[in-house]
Amino acid sequence: MSTSIDRSATQASENVWEMAKHQLDEVAQLIGLSDAIHLYLRQPKRVLEVSVPVRMDDGRFRMFTGYRVQHNMSRGPAKGGIRFHPDVTLDEIKALAMWMTWKCALVNIPFGGAKGGVICDPKAMSMQELEHLTRRFTSEISIIIGPEKDIPAPDVYTTPQIMAWIMDTYSMQVGYSVPGVVTGKPIAIGGSLGRDKATARGCLYVVDEAMDVLGIPIEGARVAVQGFGNAGMHAATLMAERGYKIVAVSDSRGGVANSKGLDARGLLVHKLQTGSVVGFAGGEKITNKDLLEYECDVLVPAALEKVITRDNAPKIQAKIVAEAANGPTLPEADAILHERGVMVLPDILANAGGVTVSYFEWVQDIGENFWEEDEINARLKQKMTRAFRETYEHAQRHNVNMRGGAYAVAVSRVAEATKLRGLYP
Ligand code: GLU
Repeated sequence: MSTSIDRSATQASENVWEMAKHQLDEVAQLIGLSDAIHLYLRQPKRVLEVSVPVRMDDGRFRMFTGYRVQHNMSRGPAKGGIRFHPDVTLDEIKALAMWMTWKCALVNIPFGGAKGGVICDPKAMSMQELEHLTRRFTSEISIIIGPEKDIPAPDVYTTPQIMAWIMDTYSMQVGYSVPGVVTGKPIAIGGSLGRDKATARGCLYVVDEAMDVLGIPIEGARVAVQGFGNAGMHAATLMAERGYKIVAVSDSRGGVANSKGLDARGLLVHKLQTGSVVGFAGGEKITNKDLLEYECDVLVPAALEKVITRDNAPKIQAKIVAEAANGPTLPEADAILHERGVMVLPDILANAGGVTVSYFEWVQDIGENFWEEDEINARLKQKMTRAFRETYEHAQRHNVNMRGGAYAVAVSRVAEATKLRGLYP
C-alpha cells in the first residue's frame, strides 16, 4: 500500500476541500502523525450522491442533486448538519464533514463527522416544495443514516421544521418513531431545550474565555457579527445580554453599524419582521466588506466560508475572531492574523456548541429522559470551557495559533481511536 501523500494540491487555495486537507497536513507534521493514519484521515469514509426528484407547486418536475458525506466514524456514529443552498458542492460537503470529525473530537463527544447538502434555493421555494424535497432527500440517504449510524442536524438554511420532516420520513420508513435519527428537532417531538441557541451560546462561552486570557474587559467590548442566521442572531443577543456592545451586523443583503452600539433585541425583531437587518433604524448602512473591517474588539463571522482572505486580513481591526461559521478564514489569512497577534477561535471550537447540544439531544432521545435548560447550559459551558483550555494549552505548547492547538487535540483523539481499532479485515 502506498502511504505517500501528494501535497502538491494542498497549497492554500480557494477550494474548501483543499483548505481542509491543508489544515490536516499542517497538524500531521506538528504532532508527528504516521503517514498511514494521515492518509486514512485525509479521505472521507463514504460519499453518497443522490438525485432528488420533486413535483413543484406549478406542476413542473425538477431534479435536485444532494450529498451525504461520512468522513470518519472511529469514535462513534457520524454526525453533522444538512445545508440547503444554491452554492453547495461535493467538495464543500467533504470539507464540512471532515471539520465535523475534528469538532466532535475537540469537545470530546462520541461522534464521528458527516455533512449533507442539497443544491437548491430554499428562499425561492414554498413550504410544500421544501417538504417534498426534504422527504425525498431523506428517503434517498436513509440507506446510510440512523440513530446508531449517522445523525443529521440543521445547518445553513435548514430549520427545526425540516428536521421534523426528516424524523417523520425516516420513522415512516421503519414503521415506528425514531427521534434519535436527527437533532435540532422541535421540542414537541424530542428536541432539546437550548438547542436553538446552542451554537451562539457555545461561541459566547469561548469568547469569554479568550477575553479573560487576553485581559480585555467584557463590559462594553465592541462586537461585529457577519451573518444573521441561527448562529449570528443569537450570538448578537446573547453577547449583548452579557455586556458586550454590538456595533455592526450584516446578512446576505447588507449591514448596519453604529460605533455607539446597536439595540440587539430591536435588530432581532426587525430581522424577523422584514427578513433582513438592512434598514434597521439606529445605525448607518454598511456592506459585508465594511463589516469585516469595522472597528471592533471581537469579530464574529457567522455566515459562509472563505470571507477572510489575504486581502482583508491585514485590515481586520478585531483582537479576537470567533468563527461561528464553518471555514470563514482562508489559510493565508490565518497566517496573517496570527502574525498580527489576532486570536482566531477556530470554527471547530467556536461553533461546537451546536453539535454539543445535538449530542445532548440524542442522549435524551435514546434515554427517553429529558433535562432542564439550566442543566443543558451548564453541561455545555463545561464542555466548551474545557475545549478552550485544551486548545490554548496545545497552542502554547506547540507555539502555534489556536487552530493549530485545536487540531492537535482533535486529530490526536481521532488518530488514537483509529489506531486502537486497527485495520479491517
Ligand atoms: N451544522 C452544525 C455544525 O456545523 C451542527 C451539526 C450538528 O448539530 O450535528 O456544527
